[in-house]
Amino acid sequence: MKSEAYRVFLKLLCRFGPQRWWPGIWERGNFRDEVIVGAVLTQGTNWKNVERALRNLEGAGITDLYRLYRTPEGELHELLKPAVYVKRKVRTLKELYGVVYGRDGVPRREELLSVHGIGEETADVILLYAYDVPVVVIDAYTRRWAERYFGKRLKDTDLRELLYDRDLFYLKEVHALLDELGKRYCQKEPKCETCPLKSTCFTGASKGK
Ligand code: SF4
Repeated sequence: MKSEAYRVFLKLLCRFGPQRWWPGIWERGNFRDEVIVGAVLTQGTNWKNVERALRNLEGAGITDLYRLYRTPEGELHELLKPAVYVKRKVRTLKELYGVVYGRDGVPRREELLSVHGIGEETADVILLYAYDVPVVVIDAYTRRWAERYFGKRLKDTDLRELLYDRDLFYLKEVHALLDELGKRYCQKEPKCETCPLKSTCFTGASKGK
């Protein structure tokens, strides 16, 4: 199955091209902090809304976690409005400041998970894209693709093993590419006819029979 994952990666890379995540919005500012803020803001909403919220922050001169931490909550609620669930996200970001700036080096996964509002997906996004830690990011798109592609539901631990590689380019791209697949083809109602994985996908191939 692992070699199949590499084949899928190559097919998606050929079709979509490199996604080059994490997408930076701020022209000036702390890129690592921008990834962390974006990873929290994107929970439960689409990236367009996150971009609007990030631009609002930049416009207010808030381009790192320290400045965000020092900004009154009411002001942040207004600036982050496009990103929804704002109160909870502001709390999460302020708590994250303590974890990220309260230590030297890379925060541990358990430390990130101990922050209110940080689940496994967000913790792993932060580790991979902000700190270059080689971890596999699993989200709903990944689970849906795997279940349809292999014709059986896989546990997250199996998915992690399947998609793991020490290479950061691969890890960053495979997550981004599977998300792109989920948005363009492997949607709730899959568009298998035009999907680049159709010939090797359990679900896609069975549709052509
Ligand atoms: S062929 Fe269909 S089910 Fe398989 S990955 Fe593509 S869209 Fe999803």
